[in-house]
Amino acid sequence: MHAEIISVGTELLLGDTVDTNAAALGQRLAEWGIHHRHRQTVGDHQGRLVEALHLAQSRAEMVITIGGLGPTEDDLTRYAIAEVLGRPMVRDEAVVRRLQAFFRSRGVAWVELNGRQADLPEGGEWVANANGTALGFWVPTEGCGGVLALPGPPNEFLPMLDGPVRELLRGRGGVPLYRRTLRFVGVGESLLAAQFPKLMDGERPTVAPYAKPGEVHLRIADADDEAGRERVRQVEQLIRAKAGEHCYGADEETLPEVILALLRRERQTLAVAESCTGGGIGARLTEVPGASDAFVGGVISYTEAVKHAHLGVPEAVLEGPGAVSHECAVAMAQGARERLGATWGLSVTGYAGPDAPEGRLGEVWIALAGPDRAEAVRFAFRGDRRTVRLRAVSQALTSLWQALR
Ligand code: ATP
Ligand code: MG
Repeated sequence: MHAEIISVGTELLLGDTVDTNAAALGQRLAEWGIHHRHRQTVGDHQGRLVEALHLAQSRAEMVITIGGLGPTEDDLTRYAIAEVLGRPMVRDEAVVRRLQAFFRSRGVAWVELNGRQADLPEGGEWVANANGTALGFWVPTEGCGGVLALPGPPNEFLPMLDGPVRELLRGRGGVPLYRRTLRFVGVGESLLAAQFPKLMDGERPTVAPYAKPGEVHLRIADADDEAGRERVRQVEQLIRAKAGEHCYGADEETLPEVILALLRRERQTLAVAESCTGGGIGARLTEVPGASDAFVGGVISYTEAVKHAHLGVPEAVLEGPGAVSHECAVAMAQGARERLGATWGLSVTGYAGPDAPEGRLGEVWIALAGPDRAEAVRFAFRGDRRTVRLRAVSQALTSLWQALR
């Protein structure tokens, strides 16, 4: 069974909207064992939509469209599907009545255009949408193939994917894929891959590295049956034996989650002092629900005055080595630790740019103060302001994890 995704919407072509729906669908198809070789994006234009559908039908048994199911003149997907399948369009009067009742309950006037959302190619069946007025639909063709049309708004699309769409498509694919993702920090993608040249060429399982901001993920995948899962387990052991010191977690585990769990286990707490990251470390840590039992808070000490008044960075440090220095980073980390009453203080100070003293753009100091000692390390990050700030946040979390482990 092969599927092809067609994303519909001029905003996707223009790059105004990123096609997150197709990404989510691609992941689900792999999980459900439905192979997926092509994906198309097409604007809101019936002729080009018909062309895309013909092409998709020529090479896939199942075609899934995203978007263009609304009531307006530029919502053409259902009509293009009916045209390509050669099916007449049937207006479902029961759906019309339901839509009318819905509009009445909201006090919104009914206009005839809304009736378009009740149009279904003959032989099709509706796919429920709990969060919007545009229903999805499935038109079966020969075998277990067919055309599935889903609405574009992600708050409607994603719940449908994990609800009625899963029900509809489950069992149509082959052996689903079993995936294990190992997550690494403090090691580059190529360096990591170079340690396992044979594995990287393997077919069963396949091992693929993905570079993420500040991290590398290795995805090990094989058939979701007993033999496949066993092969994945063996390869995971092999990888961990060689590169386990850089591996902080697996699958959906995030670095902040792992850090908070380590702190909790030791009944320790953390405070941060952030300059150039402007609260980015705190934001990452507080993404984790229940972070407050290990993360107490922090100071966004963007100016020298705040570094001095709220973290106790000595004036002599600010006037001497300056705000971007080993001494300042250490004083910030100690200040956060002592003033917020935490076991650990983590600080970041640096030049994110675009303005920086000659040769110091991207210079970032990260310090960690603990019960016994405080240490700062200098990093030189390349990239624009956004990149330097992101890297500083990732590196601060990485350094913290390495110290706690
Ligand atoms: P529907 O099928 O419900 O009518 P639509 O494509 O007609 O969907 P639009 O009004 O064009 O709906 O888009 C609704 C919102 O959904 C917009 O914010 C749009 O950017 C977003 N959207 C549409 N398609 C996608 C997609 N593939 N990925 C992410 N967002 C999308
Ligand atoms: Mg659209």
